[in-house]
Amino acid sequence: MFFMNLEEKINLAAKWIAESERLVVFTGAGCSTGSGIPDFRGPDGLWTRRDKGLAPKKPKVPWDQAKPNPNHYAIAELMEMGRLNYLISQNIDGLHAKSGIPFEMLAELHGNQFFMKCLSCNKKMLFEEAKWDKKIWGRGFRKDPVREDQPTCPHCGGRIINSIVDFGDPLPYDELQESMIRSQNSDVFLVIGSSLVVTPAANMPGIANQNGAKLIIINKGDTPYDMVTDIKFDDKIEDVLPPIMEKVKEMTKSS
Ligand code: ZN
Repeated sequence: MFFMNLEEKINLAAKWIAESERLVVFTGAGCSTGSGIPDFRGPDGLWTRRDKGLAPKKPKVPWDQAKPNPNHYAIAELMEMGRLNYLISQNIDGLHAKSGIPFEMLAELHGNQFFMKCLSCNKKMLFEEAKWDKKIWGRGFRKDPVREDQPTCPHCGGRIINSIVDFGDPLPYDELQESMIRSQNSDVFLVIGSSLVVTPAANMPGIANQNGAKLIIINKGDTPYDMVTDIKFDDKIEDVLPPIMEKVKEMTKSS
């Protein structure tokens, strides 16, 4: 597949997506840089700059006010077209949910900055819904001490914690399980903007690929799956995803 030019790759990726029955999309930080949220290993990424001894670039907008960008809306469009089986994201910015993807179709493997979750019933709720004031109760991480009078789950009374997966914390078990099953059963697996190095989230493309899914990766920069992927776009997402979407729409309209 490495001999194809960009246009041929776009056409083939679009064909696979248009014909897919169980498309799983996987997103990383690169999906959100267009919303002003810095990634880790991109040209201006947090860790790229750190390795060069540079301070992080000042974000254009505060993280909690960032809005979904065309990448997020393209995925939401795939859902509206009935093409999306499941979405797995490493991002905690909550932008997929903001773009209209329901939690039943979304695994936020590293959490969502706007949500807490209950350790007993697993329900997610906004900090406001949980009546959790960060000024009083702190950020509510799993390792924080539990205070006797802190708010509990409005549904079951269980302990609620910040849904963001902090260093050393386990990933949300149910979403991780669901992600593995959906990846295993997928027929096309599309990676958007991830260098696929943070495991276990980054194991999903391998699980899909080993079970026969066609693997498409859009990421500027290398990934550990570059040698096994069916199509690799080493391009900016903005240069590849819109033309793919256009073709998918054409193809699904005529069929
Ligand atoms: Zn609960």
